[in-house]
Amino acid sequence: MTTIYLISPRAEPLAYFGAEIYAHSGFAGAQMVADLTMPTVAALIPADFHIRLCDEHLTPVDLDAPADIVALTGKTSQAGRMLELADAFRRRGRIVVIGGPYASLSPDKVRPHCDVLVRGEIEGIAAALFDDLRAGTWKAEYVGEAADLASTPIPRWDLYPNDRALIGAVQTSRGCPFDCEFCDVPAYAGRRQRHKDPSQVVAELDVLYGLGYRSVFLADDNFTASRRRAKGLLTAIAAWNRTRPDGSMTFATQMSVDVAKDDEILGLCAQAGLAVAFVGLETPSEESLRETGKRQNLDGDPIERINRLLEHGIMVISGLIVGFDADGPDIFDRQRRFVDSAPIPIFSLGALVASSGSPLYDRMVQSGRLLAEHPYGTAQPWSSNIIPQQMSGEALLAGLRHLGNHIYSPQAFGDRMVAMLDRLGTACVGPAPVPNGESLVASRKALMRQTAELIKHLALSGPAEKAMVTRIGRHALRHRPQFLPLVQTCLRFYAQIRHVYRLTGFEPT
Ligand code: SF4
Repeated sequence: MTTIYLISPRAEPLAYFGAEIYAHSGFAGAQMVADLTMPTVAALIPADFHIRLCDEHLTPVDLDAPADIVALTGKTSQAGRMLELADAFRRRGRIVVIGGPYASLSPDKVRPHCDVLVRGEIEGIAAALFDDLRAGTWKAEYVGEAADLASTPIPRWDLYPNDRALIGAVQTSRGCPFDCEFCDVPAYAGRRQRHKDPSQVVAELDVLYGLGYRSVFLADDNFTASRRRAKGLLTAIAAWNRTRPDGSMTFATQMSVDVAKDDEILGLCAQAGLAVAFVGLETPSEESLRETGKRQNLDGDPIERINRLLEHGIMVISGLIVGFDADGPDIFDRQRRFVDSAPIPIFSLGALVASSGSPLYDRMVQSGRLLAEHPYGTAQPWSSNIIPQQMSGEALLAGLRHLGNHIYSPQAFGDRMVAMLDRLGTACVGPAPVPNGESLVASRKALMRQTAELIKHLALSGPAEKAMVTRIGRHALRHRPQFLPLVQTCLRFYAQIRHVYRLTGFEPT
């Protein structure tokens, strides 16, 4: 029997939406969102292979694992660690296969580190690849076309340590038709969006529900890029969710802010149980939005649009970017005023970064503004791999530090939490939130208990934090008790983000 060791390396740097705070607080490692890639690949591996999975965020990589083949997969944020592990396994005589988004976007950087490079999507080439690996006749490179998602199998979640992931994951589509200059998604997933059938999505949800998940990330690049198909899928999910025997599921996904113009889709989101949406607002500067091709953000007031989502019971998390060519030194004050006026507790703030494969990357190379010291095209969230146009790199970092620490000061965060809670609507009543994890299967209860512990640690970390947690908790209990699970989610994000700031020296000195 051929043994294959599938590895998802840890991401570097630490991420806003990671869960390293659990291990830091003395608990076992945890994942914010279960790693979907490995169970997806595992479902394509023939039954006569022995499969072992390793999510390095949860368990250490075993360099001496008795495996015939080591297969590594990862995004750009995992590239450094992925290539380091590949070299270590090859030194031990293992056959190393590398695939995934980074391998597809930067094949020349990956090729010297592996025996087999897999570019593109694996579904259409999986049979040939694994036959060749079994027979020892593998080729140096396989190139997969964009897959037809209607025929993809259910991911092998039975192989994954589900007791350490807070949220499950289902991908319902791939690709995005927009062309934001900084984004690498159209380069590796295509501009024509492909979709799974609603029956496939529901079958995947059934599996995750049976494993105890009561919260799932719909891991699409842009869930609402095709509103017609999103409406059909949401209708199917709502019908499925209404009949769950043991508490309903809530969902999070990524969507464009222009969806706020469509009351029908917002109503369907609420009915399906969609409670959290990540929306890339990026900047209050119209000039910067135009520069980066974010046309979907340009024809409406962003705060009014966020309020529309909140009225439908959908909490918004947003990305913020500083360092566009149009950004002058005043951008930090403008961003600060924007954040203070927004009922959005969680922002992922970062410098503009040119990812490999993005149009911005090509433009920066052509204009000689790409910094050589970031070999993988990514950087810390608050440093950049490009030379800014209107300020020095030092000024960009100093402005980001100041802005980030304002956004996550206990006072400002508490203000935005209260504003969000006051606006969250219940007019469109979705499924009831799970009552304190009561209905979760036993294996997931430890993780829920540890989340409550984390929030207790947060409240004990200083007087301002204590006042903030108390204020938010009291406000929710008195006025919006149905949203207490959401409050817990936000405080968990807050604890992780402050941890990232602390560990990377981003807090004020
Ligand atoms: S940032 Fe979002 S909307 Fe823009 S191209 Fe990427 S996935 Fe699409």
